[in-house]
Amino acid sequence: MRFCSLSSSSYANSVVIQDNRTCVLIDCGLRKRDIKPFLGSVGLSPGDIDAVLVTHSHADHVYGLKFLLKENNVPVYSTAGVLREINSRYSFSMQPNFQVMQLFEEIGIGSMSLIPFRLSHDVETIGFFIKSGAERMGVITDTGFVPDNCIKAFETLDYLYIESNHDIEMYRYSSKPRHVIKRNLGPNGHLSNGQCGEALESMGLNKCKLVTLAHLSEDDNNPSRALESATRHLVPGTALVCAPSRVPGRWSDLLLK
Ligand SMILES: [Zn+2]
Ligand SMILES: [Zn+2]
Repeated sequence: MRFCSLSSSSYANSVVIQDNRTCVLIDCGLRKRDIKPFLGSVGLSPGDIDAVLVTHSHADHVYGLKFLLKENNVPVYSTAGVLREINSRYSFSMQPNFQVMQLFEEIGIGSMSLIPFRLSHDVETIGFFIKSGAERMGVITDTGFVPDNCIKAFETLDYLYIESNHDIEMYRYSSKPRHVIKRNLGPNGHLSNGQCGEALESMGLNKCKLVTLAHLSEDDNNPSRALESATRHLVPGTALVCAPSRVPGRWSDLLLK
């Protein structure tokens, strides 16, 4: 399996995961004008996508869904609560093919299987544990903390895509309103560089091939601080990158060459 971030920030989030037979998007927060060019820049078109999995209803994760579905009306997977929120907040030109996932229940999409688990954000939010052949990947963004069950389950991951949202030191000089900072720092907010690092260390990640830091705040973080923090907590030699904020990154298999 391989994966590639199409955009990763408070502005727009989407990551594509592909194996020999199946291609899924996790979230589609892209602007309408970006969907085809961003997919095209990683060698894909909307017609290549088999399904979209949605973590939660915030616009930076869902905004572009209606435009993608117009191009290719693929099934949209999430929990009943997340799908209900999406249906009430966004208008679609035709009713999406919503597919309900149950927490901790494995579902198959083509050659992949996926297990959703609950995260801690200010709306219902899930992360994913994904299997393809012998490989395993974890996806965790938009959470105030990493739940214990992820720490245990993620020990044997091959790939991890994890939020490293803000740098607590940088919040001292932030122009963000105090209530936004308080929310982001709280248990229903976002993972700081420090929390991300602690989670990486707790997981162990002894066989992990690549860790991608995601959803970095453009104002209150920067890649060098996030990478420096994560490196201190990873097994030496583990490949580590930041997903670029508003443009597609590179496929994981190319990063590992
Ligand atoms: Zn977000
Ligand atoms: Zn969010």
